[in-house]
Amino acid sequence: MSASRTGRRGGPGGNRVAATEATSPSLYTRLAAGVLFPLHERLKGHASVAIRERLERSQWLDSAEIEREQSQRLREFLVDIGARVPYYRELFQRTGFDPQAVRSAADLQRLPLLTKADIRAHGERMKADGHGPLSRYNTGGSSGEPLVFYIGRGRKSHDVAAKWRATRWWGVDIGDREAVIWGSPIEHGTQDRMKALRDGLFRSTLLPAFEMSESRLDQFVAWVRRHRPTMLFGYPSALTYIARHAEKRGQRLDDLGVKVAFVTSERLYDEQRETIARVFGCRVANGYGGRDAGFIAHECPAGGMHLSAEDIVVEAVDGEGRPVAPGQPGELVVTELSTAEFPFVRYRTGDVGVLDESRCPCGRGLPLLRDLQGRTTDFVVAADGTVMHGLALIYILRDLPGIEGFKVTQETRRLTRVQIVPDASYDAAVIPTIVQGFQRRLGAGVEVQVLTVASLPRERSGKYRYIVSHAL
Ligand SMILES: [Zn+2]
Repeated sequence: MSASRTGRRGGPGGNRVAATEATSPSLYTRLAAGVLFPLHERLKGHASVAIRERLERSQWLDSAEIEREQSQRLREFLVDIGARVPYYRELFQRTGFDPQAVRSAADLQRLPLLTKADIRAHGERMKADGHGPLSRYNTGGSSGEPLVFYIGRGRKSHDVAAKWRATRWWGVDIGDREAVIWGSPIEHGTQDRMKALRDGLFRSTLLPAFEMSESRLDQFVAWVRRHRPTMLFGYPSALTYIARHAEKRGQRLDDLGVKVAFVTSERLYDEQRETIARVFGCRVANGYGGRDAGFIAHECPAGGMHLSAEDIVVEAVDGEGRPVAPGQPGELVVTELSTAEFPFVRYRTGDVGVLDESRCPCGRGLPLLRDLQGRTTDFVVAADGTVMHGLALIYILRDLPGIEGFKVTQETRRLTRVQIVPDASYDAAVIPTIVQGFQRRLGAGVEVQVLTVASLPRERSGKYRYIVSHAL
């Protein structure tokens, strides 16, 4: 699951976290976090500053109080969507579900799970009557199930605020120098100049993570050494790749003042955490969430993976959709309480984790998630030997119509197979688009076979691999 990358902020906000007092933020960071970013958010119509302040207070409430507030917000949310959203109005009427009667998150179990296929089938009827501006997004980045959905301003504000709060846990803030190692499509969008301006203002630099050629890796290492970022943000796989490259070249990166590496969007393996921490000389903070399901959980410096429980209800369910016993692994199912304009109710993430009933030593009352088994994305290799992140290929597939699921298998540097599960609107006319897109990435002479299949074979339990390379 991918994560939005706007809005991170640190500084000694919670005075119970002594570790963050070590260095005070620079004047520029205080200006960026205290004035410029709030102004930027207000101009965008976002309420993220006020939400962050609310969340910074509520994180210290005890867990029973957080749960009580969550239940109240859940009831209000369900009443709202039952009135305004055609899909839920009909569902509640058909099933006799009374949102006014909701007393706790357990009442959600009377509603069906929401799959990506449901959203694909009912997308237009999931928009609230009289909704405000909605932005269109696509995902399926690493899940092999493309999805188009919409997000309103309320939800964006919440995502920014939740991420900003979690950033501040680590003693860094918006405006601290940041290197973002992230995918970026070849095609340039119209917002590029605005984005460049904003990134400059908040001292955030995007280093495209798709191509990992030797010369590109040398450039990454040189950039980090020259600019000495305070924080890094990226895929664990990409940061690990850069770290190993620096080690191979004998280039030190642990003397530059990097404080923390925020990683997200893929499963973080212990070995990756150890490599990133050692080579960059920093802490590693894992984050879990995405544009679709929201900013679900983030690690604190005490090691707890805290759920954003004020505004997100997370359930763990078994194969039949029933809640698993506490402490048992289950598929994570998410209800996002700030998405009334395009609701996600009991949304199946496809990720497996354990809802942990223990308390975190940091003192926050936010509940914990552990043993998160996110997706893994393999690297692939172009005909000329350039190694690239698998998302470089997924980006080509994820916005095409008619594709319910996919799996990419790179057999050799000369042959890649793409299996597609078509839905009712599938049109074979997309095949040349796929072939040309893949050849642009992998090399003009590479053979790309596109096959439609009824279903995709399952991997071993808990492991989701939609990009597999046998050519590395
Ligand atoms: Zn904690």
